[in-house]
Amino acid sequence: MSRHTSGTCNLSSSCRRKPASSIGTRRRFLAVAGALLAAVSVLPAAAADAQDFDVVIANGRVMDPASGLDAVRNVGVRAGKVQTISTAPLHGARVIDAAGLVVAPGFINLHWHGTDPRSNTFEAMDGVTSTFELEIGVADVDRWYAERVGRMPINYGVAVGHAPVRMQVMHDPGVFVPAGDAARLPANEVQQARILDGIEHGLRRGAVGVGFGLAYTPAASRREILDAFRVAARHQASAFVHIRGASSAGSADREEGLLEVIAHSAVSGAPVHVAHINSSAQEAVERLLDVIGQARARGIDITTEAYPYTAGMTRLESFLFDSWTDKPESEYRKLQWVATGERLTRETFHRYRAQGGFVLIHANTEARVRHAIVHSLTMIASDGFDVDPPSHPRSAGTFTRTLARYVREEQALSLMDALRKMTLMPAQRLQARVPDMALRGRIAPGTYADLVVFDPDRVQDVATYEQPARYARGMRYVLVNGQTVVDGGEVVAKAFPGLPIRAPLR
Ligand SMILES: [Zn+2]
Repeated sequence: MSRHTSGTCNLSSSCRRKPASSIGTRRRFLAVAGALLAAVSVLPAAAADAQDFDVVIANGRVMDPASGLDAVRNVGVRAGKVQTISTAPLHGARVIDAAGLVVAPGFINLHWHGTDPRSNTFEAMDGVTSTFELEIGVADVDRWYAERVGRMPINYGVAVGHAPVRMQVMHDPGVFVPAGDAARLPANEVQQARILDGIEHGLRRGAVGVGFGLAYTPAASRREILDAFRVAARHQASAFVHIRGASSAGSADREEGLLEVIAHSAVSGAPVHVAHINSSAQEAVERLLDVIGQARARGIDITTEAYPYTAGMTRLESFLFDSWTDKPESEYRKLQWVATGERLTRETFHRYRAQGGFVLIHANTEARVRHAIVHSLTMIASDGFDVDPPSHPRSAGTFTRTLARYVREEQALSLMDALRKMTLMPAQRLQARVPDMALRGRIAPGTYADLVVFDPDRVQDVATYEQPARYARGMRYVLVNGQTVVDGGEVVAKAFPGLPIRAPLR
């Protein structure tokens, strides 16, 4: 024991035998030291507490197209957001071991027509965490959002639709797409003004964009559509378009509809997104993708999408089949009546057309579809419908099919490029109008915890034309705003963490 001459002492030296008051001081010092120690020992834990997460996704191969990150990391989620991505182990109320699995941003589907939240569980099993009705859209934006509050497993958004507003103004009897005047008659001045007012109102109510089903409203003049694009431009909204005169059901001039929307975009300034280039272009897919690339090179803000199936699907009573009254028998055989699965004849074509309903159109080829899917300009989007009554397998298998067939089996697309087409690219298409989308489609601190955890070696679509309502396989966990909607490969019943995605109201 050594003697200190300084007057202060530390815990080890005997020189501290001071008078009573000094003993008191020492006791106080020890008490304080003890408390400090206790505090210190708690601090890392407290720090850990502060670092504890609601969910930790550990040991997964984290792939983020926005940053290019592709490495094994631990992801900490709290309060619905990604808080940290770390090489260090993280503590969480729940720890999901993702060793050997890929952890990626949740998929964003810009093309969905379903109305029943149960159908969205098929999207979730396909890796989709945000879904949008953009191509056709709706006339009543407020009602569409109100009908879904608290009932959706995934996030949801809608466009105000030129076709539904036109159907309302012209009292068209059509189901989903026009079947009467709104398809076949030009709009007079008063009707045109009311259509533009309806679109303006929808945008003020936060519609994500403006939808155009131009192939379904062929009587709408170029002036009517240009004016509608101008309304979109005033609200920084994009136009989401099924181009005029082009579909799986045929086309006299594939370039016509595409050049029309490029002109509308150039004149109005509204960005334009071309729906399902695979089915609208068919044999002209290489030509039309070149046109889109050249327009972009000259500053036109145009994007597009594709789904990985050779058959299209639409309503048999729609305008698309007006020119089918007297086709060769072989053409009718390309049509498959969804309700029964039977291939059509001239006789059944006319009978079912009078009745109305969905028909599959087996018109495209694998080579053309592959060209569209792997092309650098296309996003992946399903054009899906409700699964009951049965519709098209694209509703349940579009994203897993892209990963299974074009990434794993054919190696025609890298995993990172495929993920980019399903996450970052669609998010970027929407974020100018909906700032919230800058926090989706990415994995980084501060982004929404919309995450998929899947096995790239086993991910697989299983839905078929005959059995379209079948859950995809391989998505082990799907989180929406930090909550699991797919857990251990199973849908989580009664999980509705989906939030409305809407532009600011004006
Ligand atoms: Zn379409």
